[in-house]
Amino acid sequence: MEIFKSPEEMRGWAREQALSGKTISLVPTMGYFHEGHLSLMRLAAQQGDLVVVSLFVNPTQFGPNEDLDRYPRDFERDMTLVRQEKVAAVFAPTPESMYPQGFQTEVSVRNLAIYLCGRTRPGHFAGVTTVVSKLFNIVQPDVAVFGEKDFQQLAIIRRMVCDMNIPVRIVSLPIVREADGLAMSSRNANLDPANRVAALSLSTALYLARERCRQGVTSVVELTKILEAHILSFAGTAIDYASFVDSETLEPMTVVDERTVLALAVRIDGKVRLIDNGYVIPKPTN
Ligand code: AMP
Repeated sequence: MEIFKSPEEMRGWAREQALSGKTISLVPTMGYFHEGHLSLMRLAAQQGDLVVVSLFVNPTQFGPNEDLDRYPRDFERDMTLVRQEKVAAVFAPTPESMYPQGFQTEVSVRNLAIYLCGRTRPGHFAGVTTVVSKLFNIVQPDVAVFGEKDFQQLAIIRRMVCDMNIPVRIVSLPIVREADGLAMSSRNANLDPANRVAALSLSTALYLARERCRQGVTSVVELTKILEAHILSFAGTAIDYASFVDSETLEPMTVVDERTVLALAVRIDGKVRLIDNGYVIPKPTN
């Protein structure tokens, strides 16, 4: 397995592979791998000849008061895990090589980025779309694989690829969960045992919304009241948002239907911000 630290080396290798007729599937990540990341790598391996995993904790998608410094990192652990997968190359650049002095370009998607995480994390999605554009230009993949856990990010990247005629096919993977329902996340490593219990407020809220909806409660006002009370019944939780949105436009909905996604962001103990989401009326494949 190759490990590249500079965009030039990564690009040179990727170009050689393309010239020899190989297709590339890219899995963009911020590292500290869990089963969700490894599942993305396995899906990527089914989609092309060679898998490239990028590992970059992108500073421009973190706000000044966010957890950039506390974001879990362990390069050696990650390399041990990734070597067990069918991964041809890891791209792990430094912030300086991605954002050299004089850098001043931003790629941003307008409407989809104003809702949900876009409201509470200003500038976050511009950071994401800028770095993903750079990764696409450096690796020139045929396919890129993203998780549905970051549901808004996925919608924004699909929009960007379509709008900018980027020749990359976007493939998505459903949320990978722990046995008790918690959506896997690198940030779960920052949860102490009490906070790990509070973290279940998200997935159980989703299951509760589904149950109430099956029982006939489809008013978003009603459901929101129920869910807020449920989430706040866990010690140390603060709701960033609990929104019922249209799966494509991300606009808020008033009555639940087949297109409605419940999107959740909850702060645990003021320290760890977790997200989760799912269709309120589950798709047959969910
Ligand atoms: P991250 O390293 O957290 O930036 O995530 C890298 C990729 O893994 C993104 O496409 C995420 O959506 C995806 N991902 C993270 N957690 C999960 C999960 N529990 N299930 C599925 N995909 C995930």
